[in-house]
Amino acid sequence: MKTKFTLYTGLYTIGGVNFSVEYGKDRVIMEMGSAYNPATDVYDGIVLKRSRAWVRDAIRTQRIPAIDGIYRKQDLDGFMGLVPAEESDLNTAIFITHLHLDHMAGIGFVAPQIPIYMHKNAIQIERALEATGEGVETLERDYTPFDENQPIRVGEIEVLPILTSRRSYRDFAFLITTPDGTIHWTGDLSLHGYEAQLTFDQMEFLKQRGVDVLLCDTCAFMDEILLQINDTTDPAAIKPSREIPAGMLDAADVDRELFEVLKSKKGLTVFNFYQREMDEAQRYMDWAEKVGRICVFEPDCAYIIYKFFGTRPNVFIPDSHRYPDDPAKQPAWFRELLENCRVVTREEIFSNPSGYLLQNSYRHILELFELPDENGAYLHADGIPIGAFDPAYQNLQRIISRTKFEYVTFFSKKYFGHGYPQQVKYFVDQVDPKVLIPCHGFNPERLLPKNGVQLLPDLGKTYILSNGQLIPENEYAQ
Ligand SMILES: [Zn+2]
Repeated sequence: MKTKFTLYTGLYTIGGVNFSVEYGKDRVIMEMGSAYNPATDVYDGIVLKRSRAWVRDAIRTQRIPAIDGIYRKQDLDGFMGLVPAEESDLNTAIFITHLHLDHMAGIGFVAPQIPIYMHKNAIQIERALEATGEGVETLERDYTPFDENQPIRVGEIEVLPILTSRRSYRDFAFLITTPDGTIHWTGDLSLHGYEAQLTFDQMEFLKQRGVDVLLCDTCAFMDEILLQINDTTDPAAIKPSREIPAGMLDAADVDRELFEVLKSKKGLTVFNFYQREMDEAQRYMDWAEKVGRICVFEPDCAYIIYKFFGTRPNVFIPDSHRYPDDPAKQPAWFRELLENCRVVTREEIFSNPSGYLLQNSYRHILELFELPDENGAYLHADGIPIGAFDPAYQNLQRIISRTKFEYVTFFSKKYFGHGYPQQVKYFVDQVDPKVLIPCHGFNPERLLPKNGVQLLPDLGKTYILSNGQLIPENEYAQ
């Protein structure tokens, strides 16, 4: 028996890293995410999803990987000759590092008998999202919670979740150990911001332990970021360093700048953030209190806050068929929210615009037309649409430009959420794996190992882990 490794997707894309490690009849699959590219998404807002073919279409459109033994027979219906979960003899478990869609958008497609492991906070938020219809498309199923630093055994394979962020749903890296060696997946890697120390701890731990294969996030190695830092994309110019590159910001700097904007504004301030980030929701509530404003959330986001913190956020109800006035027509989650939280009306906001900090999601952007915009500001704080790579971004700008809201953002220049290239290089040099698989980025080839070999695996191809090397299965001699 030998350890088999297969990377299915996520080499040259932002996210969507999915791979499996197999030993005998045991198998672990890391992540079930989709690479995020709204510009090429076949679902453009007009094309409808099909029902019976939902899994097959998701595989065709590369929203989920083509892997044997994890989808239901009735959903596959013989598609691509994939083995259905019901007929697989493998003992499989799936592990999710964190609740970003590029790591977990596909979990709902998986046959319910295949366990999916997530941190309990992530499960709680996903359940709240599902209640409002904002969760992943899914069958009825359970999720299995794991704890930080508590190894999980899947037969002969051990998976150790290493905490990389304490924020709301928690983020993890996974160290996978089989009888043949170790494979480590960083998940999203960041060495700056509030929790950098956790990643330096991870690095020290891996260094002591020794790693055969390291799969590493290379998001920041794209042209846009490298050119801001080095004036060249030449990998040789990326010198390992713990420090944040000169001129770039960390998360605390960005927070400070956003807060300064909020303090200086004299009218209604609206913000658009990634609404499953509960630590950020908390931050806006804290900021509002500091500047004497009332923080108000749309119902969907308010419901996650209500479930996650057990508190009663203020709610603003956009004009939408999603939120009917008639209690008989209201979905249960919305009724529950209204029974427990205070509703802030449009009239209240008009009577005192500078007294409010209001969350607005892109789909309710037209609300800006009927809110007080005099001296108002719109803080784009990493909500959807995130940047110019999304066609909806132009539309967002167009709509805001028809109002008097001032558009404010810090997320395109001088700041990047993932580890800066020099820092990632430092991390990799310290861990010094025998095989480095750079992934989760447009230019993984630019991350070079110190002593080991760089491997850009063929997607879907099986490699054998033997003496700290990954050898293509067809070239491996017993
Ligand atoms: Zn990611």
